[in-house]
Amino acid sequence: MQVRRQIEVSGIVQGVGFRPYIYRLANESHLVGTIRNTSSGVTIEVQGPRAAVEDFITRLPREAPPLARITEIVANDLPCNGDREFRILASHGDEAVRTLISPDVATCEDCLREMFDPQDRRYRYPFINCTNCGPRFTITHDIPYDRPRTSMAAFKMCATCQAEYDNPLDRRFHAQPNACWDCGPRLELWDNDGQKLESGDPIADVIAALNSGQIVAVKGLGGFHLAADATSAAAVTLLRERKRRVGKPFAVMVPNLTAVQDFCQISDAEAATLQSIQRPIVLLRRSTGEDARASKINDDVAPGNNYLGVFLPYTPLHHLLLAEGKFKALVMTSGNMSEEPIAIANDEAFARLSSLADYFLVHNRDILLRCDDSVVRILSYASSFSDSLPHLPARALNRKERQAFAKSAKKNSGEFVPATPSGPFASFAEPSRSLRLRASERKTQEKSSNHAEKVQQLRRSRGFVPVPVFLNAEVPSILAVGGELKNTICLTKGKHAFLSQHVGDLENLESYKFFEEAIDHLQKVLEIRPETIAYDLHPDYFSTKWALQKTDMPLAGVQHHHAHIASCMAENHLDGKVIGFALDGTGYGTDGKIWGGEVLVAGYENFERTAHFEYVPMPGGAAAIHEPWRMAVSYLAHHFGKDFLKMGLPFLDGIARPKLDLLLQALERRINSPLTSSCGRLFDAVAAVAGVLQQVTYEAQAAIELEMATGSNGSDDVAYGFLLLPEADSMIISTRPMFEALVEDVSQRRPLTELSLKFHNGLVNVFVQIAQRLRESTSLNRACLSGGTFNNLYLTTQLVSRLGADGFEVFTQNEVPAGDGGLSLGQVMVAAHQNTPRK
Ligand SMILES: [Zn+2]
Ligand SMILES: [Zn+2]
Repeated sequence: MQVRRQIEVSGIVQGVGFRPYIYRLANESHLVGTIRNTSSGVTIEVQGPRAAVEDFITRLPREAPPLARITEIVANDLPCNGDREFRILASHGDEAVRTLISPDVATCEDCLREMFDPQDRRYRYPFINCTNCGPRFTITHDIPYDRPRTSMAAFKMCATCQAEYDNPLDRRFHAQPNACWDCGPRLELWDNDGQKLESGDPIADVIAALNSGQIVAVKGLGGFHLAADATSAAAVTLLRERKRRVGKPFAVMVPNLTAVQDFCQISDAEAATLQSIQRPIVLLRRSTGEDARASKINDDVAPGNNYLGVFLPYTPLHHLLLAEGKFKALVMTSGNMSEEPIAIANDEAFARLSSLADYFLVHNRDILLRCDDSVVRILSYASSFSDSLPHLPARALNRKERQAFAKSAKKNSGEFVPATPSGPFASFAEPSRSLRLRASERKTQEKSSNHAEKVQQLRRSRGFVPVPVFLNAEVPSILAVGGELKNTICLTKGKHAFLSQHVGDLENLESYKFFEEAIDHLQKVLEIRPETIAYDLHPDYFSTKWALQKTDMPLAGVQHHHAHIASCMAENHLDGKVIGFALDGTGYGTDGKIWGGEVLVAGYENFERTAHFEYVPMPGGAAAIHEPWRMAVSYLAHHFGKDFLKMGLPFLDGIARPKLDLLLQALERRINSPLTSSCGRLFDAVAAVAGVLQQVTYEAQAAIELEMATGSNGSDDVAYGFLLLPEADSMIISTRPMFEALVEDVSQRRPLTELSLKFHNGLVNVFVQIAQRLRESTSLNRACLSGGTFNNLYLTTQLVSRLGADGFEVFTQNEVPAGDGGLSLGQVMVAAHQNTPRK
């Protein structure tokens, strides 16, 4: 019996090879009908025997092209007609509007094979791409996604490229950035005086320059990188000097997976993530001992850090630079000065980077949107609680399974960008059987091995933006402007929350301009007219000031830590109330004090502050963030008065007496010493007392180095004590017993590893204790962990495991960062649930 069904597919299904894919699938299944692009995706009509049509619908999402991201499939019956074949219908101009633009994607295997094939017409062509790979988001200034609205508009396709573009069966059918040696963008080599150099082979010249220890600015996908040989001490030192970046780790780009294994220990999940189509920077644990020495990665690449940020080549240009086997690893760091946004235009790069780079490897395909590299890590933990859909296999895979996994991860980015059970296939009446099976199989695996792994975003940018975070309910259209540091913005439409790329620290003018650009661009390409603007309560944040100028719009102020917990709830599809651990450095409290060590009982509507660290003064305000010894003195004076000066604490020897006296006076008279309950500042104080460091050169350095001191096989049976003091309707966490024991250990010269472990374990103990008390008083059993402190892997792993072992359901941030990069998602959720937004 013949049937005809109409199938509406929504999501990222245009410009990703979807129509040729459906064309092939329909022909394979011997079905007739049509496909066309529509305003929300594609509409397919297929006609044929019932079983074949049903089979087609089942296979449709399962075998979709790698870049497709299906958010909804709706099928309806139609009367049969006289179709004789399957046809791709032309789309009307006004229809192809509201579909999602794909993120930028790493060069695919097919293109790589062609690029390294001397017989291919694109042999060594640095801009090779197809519908399965290449630039998208960063070259598109408006919708619909079509060549004239991209920076490829400047290049007219040659006859051969045009033929590929027009052929539905070609891999380059409607590949907007399609190009070749004859018609596409070209590389150029420039010196740092702004002179173009005659170069027969710019790639070879750049390799030579890097080999001789020079620094080259390389135009990438979302901006310029500064490249240097990561094995050369001189090159790394030179880069640090020029970039004025003292200790903050650099990421390294490595030719291939085998080369990564020379200096990092990698799990299967990490290998799969490194090779995923998003190609993020993955934080990997460095090998120690012989292996590490043999690798010769310079220590100054990531000083004092047990982890290294590693990524694989993701553009044809990167592959060409690294393919020759000349480099074990290249430092590839954002082309900017300290915290400014990454440079994207050639002129801008010449102007801003001329003092940093010796040469510029540029090209004439403009980057229209800046987009930094994304940074992720794999969280691996003991799992004794039932978790939602696990995102990665838990045990070690054999080779065959590994290949299958890598393939499926590649195939379906919906699984890889950590999705949720109600995510991509939620509205599809009959989710494909194989997906269901795989999910349940993995769940069993996870339970039996008591171990789980998750990809966690630390900086969600290139490769992931503008894929939305899928929400479990529709929300009004809201613009959230994020925080001050690591800023992102968020726009919502229906069940989609679109986070912008990493905007950065708004303190400088360049970033602030980029912040406004990002808002304009996202509103334009997503066609969202927000009804409300959500902002952080901190009156000094630039994002807050920007929002408060918009007097013609309803505004919703959202408390910082409330937003963190709401962000964690949103990506985990939680409703109701949860116990929320919001731990970070700085967030403006409703009492005007600086919060940061907060345990909330929270829902989207509101929150109660149920526990927090005791308030201590932050002498010098922001200066205390740069100089952890100030917090050490503040805590010690708080607990012991001036007696601490007689305790023989070595860290005090490094501080000039007049400086110390001045600080003590400031504390006594409360001059420029705002009160804080910040967890980040507590880490600073402990790091300073323990002798880790007294001054930092980048954000959270003290906390990071204190964490690194826990070592690789930390024991959890030693811990400092904290005291829980009941107060009116909340608990105050007193650090007094902790500091008493710490000071004692320091005076006995106990090893740093022991101090660090005791501190971390003590925190875990007191947080578990608080969770237990709150469970008793509220009957809540779900715990959400958010805030920048959860970038601390040791603390996160321990707390997740311990709470899980105690029967709590624990939720972390995975799809968006736990730090302030994830704040904007929480802000929209809180604003969406406020009945009467404040004017
Ligand atoms: Zn390709
Ligand atoms: Zn061409």
